[in-house]
Amino acid sequence: MKHRDISLSGDEQDVCSTSGCGNSPKRSIPRKRVEKTGSLNLQGSSRKAPLCSDCYRIFKKSSKKDRTMESLGR
Ligand SMILES: [Zn+2]
Repeated sequence: MKHRDISLSGDEQDVCSTSGCGNSPKRSIPRKRVEKTGSLNLQGSSRKAPLCSDCYRIFKKSSKKDRTMESLGR
């Protein structure tokens, strides 16, 4: 009998979806929201983008900035 790895449900990636980043994800963010900030280069095409804590911080920072800019512009 072969020893099997514990497989996670579905075909979700078990890594951060930022291209070039191989960290394990901490949060799952809707892909659209991440793309809107334009600060992260996502790979894959799933609707949700798992992000590691580092990338999530970048996302959070840029989305905050984006929101500020938006409110200032209007
Ligand atoms: Zn990452």
